[in-house]
Amino acid sequence: MKYTVLSLFPEIADAFFSTSIMAKAVSRGVIEYQSINIRDYALDKHKTCDDAPYGGGAGMLMLLEPLSRALAAAGAGTPGKRAIYLSPSGRMFTQELAKELAKEQELILICGRYEGIDQRVIDLYVDDEISIGDYVLSSGETAALVLIDASYRLLDGVISPESLNEESFSGGLLEYPQYTRPEIYDSIQGEMRAPEILLSGHHENIRRWRLKKRVEKTLANRPDLLRRGMEKGLFDDETCKIIDEAASVTEGL
Ligand code: SAM
Repeated sequence: MKYTVLSLFPEIADAFFSTSIMAKAVSRGVIEYQSINIRDYALDKHKTCDDAPYGGGAGMLMLLEPLSRALAAAGAGTPGKRAIYLSPSGRMFTQELAKELAKEQELILICGRYEGIDQRVIDLYVDDEISIGDYVLSSGETAALVLIDASYRLLDGVISPESLNEESFSGGLLEYPQYTRPEIYDSIQGEMRAPEILLSGHHENIRRWRLKKRVEKTLANRPDLLRRGMEKGLFDDETCKIIDEAASVTEGL
């Protein structure tokens, strides 16, 4: 998988690709990365990349030519390359979409600044507009990093498959609560113990406890996920029974 990031501040993404697990994935060749500075494709000697929007209104817009020239240089529009504009007007980014994107050969990510980009660039080059949430960021770089971070960790060879199995959103549930040493923590509110069952070594009981906690947490924080999972038939009989029990002691689903 290759990530190509188009940005006016490529050093933001460069730092991410040279750090931690991502840096290892790049050095092992699991991931390829290229950053393109849109300013390098500006037409004038001042390297201008923004101008006032037609029709008036607050703020500036990214100029069409530098961005479209940068996209052409990245090979946008050729097979195997999916061009994405990070935008608050896009469709919502989810774990499902992260899985879908992780199957692509190359993602070309356009990071907007100012009030965004000229619609004609979207019409010409963009395959998807993707939003990372219902709020407005000042720039697309942070959104691109969210998309990259959520998708690259799903690639074979980046992290162990077991780590992905029971994490939040897998199988329609959030993750169970986790504990590590010390077993007893003397907090300002008194002694806090890690749940005894996790220290019992009884794998089946631990599995059941974790499943129950996943259901309870999802019911408390994201009942919409449970409802969707039920509609899609994601849950096995054991999980459905736990959901019924948990829902009967709360307000229900
Ligand atoms: N004028 C735009 C609007 O109202 O929709 C907002 C532009 S925003 C200040 C600047 C850039 O940040 C956008 O071009 C986009 O790339 C990025 N951005 C802001 N919020 C985002 C979000 N929720 N998801 C993805 N990208 C976002």
